[in-house]
Amino acid sequence: MKSSFWPPIFLLISLTTSFFLSCENHATTRNSSVPTIDSISQDSLNPMSFDTIEIKYLLGKFTPEEDSNFVKMEDLHCAGSARRQVIDKKTYKAFIKMYEAAKADGVILTIKSATRNFYYQKSIWEAKWNGSRLVGGKNLAQTVPNAQERARIILKYSSMPGTSRHHWGTDFDLNAFENEYFESGKGLKEFQWLEANARKFGFGRPYTTKGEHRPQGYEEEKWHWSYLPLAQSYQKSYKALVKPEMISGFAGSETATSIDVIKNYVFGIDPSCFDEIGK
Ligand SMILES: [Zn+2]
Repeated sequence: MKSSFWPPIFLLISLTTSFFLSCENHATTRNSSVPTIDSISQDSLNPMSFDTIEIKYLLGKFTPEEDSNFVKMEDLHCAGSARRQVIDKKTYKAFIKMYEAAKADGVILTIKSATRNFYYQKSIWEAKWNGSRLVGGKNLAQTVPNAQERARIILKYSSMPGTSRHHWGTDFDLNAFENEYFESGKGLKEFQWLEANARKFGFGRPYTTKGEHRPQGYEEEKWHWSYLPLAQSYQKSYKALVKPEMISGFAGSETATSIDVIKNYVFGIDPSCFDEIGK
């Protein structure tokens, strides 16, 4: 009985939910607010696949707060600027499962930064580029006149606009922005828990220690985690669709090609993040 009745009922619920979510999304655009996790139905999610991820999503040239694949986070899951940000819905659902498991083990995970689009990243990058935001205590505009050299210094920890995994909604920063925090006491306990368990929930760490296995890219970030089932689709699409000349529209973008920022930074990630989850 169940096999003949459940599929149509399932489909009906799915279609109905999609309709209401669709209405809500239109309202969302007008009201400049976003739905919360309560309104997410697993069936209503629009799965992004290798074939459907558009260039504007890959480059972060869209408004995540107005996009139906993104959702606002509950306050207990985030802090700081993340309270004003959104996250990909599937990534958030996976995060909540991980959050609950960590909490049961006495570890609290707090998202400190989630989705940042091209324009957000441009404001960070250009502040560092033009010296209004100091990097390592230095005004780079005054102390590093060579463009390529200046870009490489900023690239130690900040992405060029159009090349950040934070554009995708699949990646976030947890608990603290300093590696040192995760090397002793409470921070070490949190890090060890994540290293032992995050993968079970689909999360990987793209910016591991640099060395033979990861010779290029950003310096190590013990706080940055990525929802691989979705991020890997973005990676594949990025490789197929984004060309070096598309990394433009910000101060210093002329260095993107000579630095080969796509090869060395977008793909300068830990090899484990290229693996297929569950295989
Ligand atoms: Zn990050």
